[in-house]
Amino acid sequence: MGKNILIVYAHQSAGSFNAAAKDAAVELLTAQGCNVVVSDLYALGFKATATKEDITGEVKNPEHFCYGEETMVAWRENRLSADIVEEHKKVTEADLIIFQFPMYWFSMPAIMKGWIDRVLTQGFAYSSEKRYSQGPFKEKLAMLSFTTGSQESMFCSNGINGDMNVTLWPIQNGILYYCGFQVLAPQIFWAPPHITSEGRMAMLEGWRKRLEGLLSETPLSFAPLDDFDTSSGFQLKTEVKEKQAEAEFGLTVGHHLGKPLPPNNQFRPALCLSSA
Ligand SMILES: Cc1cc2nc3c(=O)[nH]c(=O)nc-3n(C[C@H](O)[C@H](O)[C@H](O)COP(=O)(O)OP(=O)(O)OC[C@H]3O[C@@H](n4cnc5c(N)ncnc54)[C@H](O)[C@@H]3O)c2cc1C
Repeated sequence: MGKNILIVYAHQSAGSFNAAAKDAAVELLTAQGCNVVVSDLYALGFKATATKEDITGEVKNPEHFCYGEETMVAWRENRLSADIVEEHKKVTEADLIIFQFPMYWFSMPAIMKGWIDRVLTQGFAYSSEKRYSQGPFKEKLAMLSFTTGSQESMFCSNGINGDMNVTLWPIQNGILYYCGFQVLAPQIFWAPPHITSEGRMAMLEGWRKRLEGLLSETPLSFAPLDDFDTSSGFQLKTEVKEKQAEAEFGLTVGHHLGKPLPPNNQFRPALCLSSA
């Protein structure tokens, strides 16, 4: 059976490099027998703001509207707005979600962040019990595929923008892995507006090759929920810290334990990570 793929796509122009990357993914994954669905956020006019209009009917506390709590209740009671329900269906069915976007301000465009704020609803996508390695989407894959304006050399530990591993951490750990997704290595297209046409074609060719084996790639490694002690404010367990004491590098970009960051932690799977 072919896998279900959702591409959450944020670019305004069908002539963009992002469009070409998205089209390549649709073509190559469809050719493998996958069922590919694209949420083209600008074409949909996707609402980016998390507001009480996301709920149909009465809100519980109009005086002090708390978006997370209210949308969780509305999700349970089937009272979320139609556009969120539509995206929930696509996420539920997806085996892999690809986020295709141009980097904006070291992150994603607001319309895609709006998709994340509104579609990854509390209860549906995470809860205090079900998050990180226990998250609702732990059987699903997700990945970032994005373009930059910057050259690769600008996004390293001694480049002007700093280490891309650090830039990726909040998105890959704090959004994708938080909801349980197994996160595939990001696909980064460095500076397509500023390189030669041959360079752009070579990047697209590399993506097309990768797409052939994408679904059997090993996901990146993150610190599992079990590594943390719920009774002590979710601190790393003593035994995990002891195991890490002699390690040359930190556990992850975020759990660096005051040591050098594990090299390419947000780009390739670790050979060995704590108790994972
Ligand atoms: C608000 C904002 C914030 C930004 N913040 C950052 C930031 O923090 N860091 C950063 O690095 N950059 C940043 N940028 C730059 C942005 O990331 C780049 O402009 C963007 O990633 C380029 O991708 P694109 O798809 O828009 O390229 P395009 O400009 O659409 O395309 C680049 C070139 O590829 C060509 N092309 C299209 N299709 C094909 C094809 N099939 N084959 C070959 N060539 C093709 C196009 O014709 C064009 O010449 C920011 C930009 C904005 C507007």
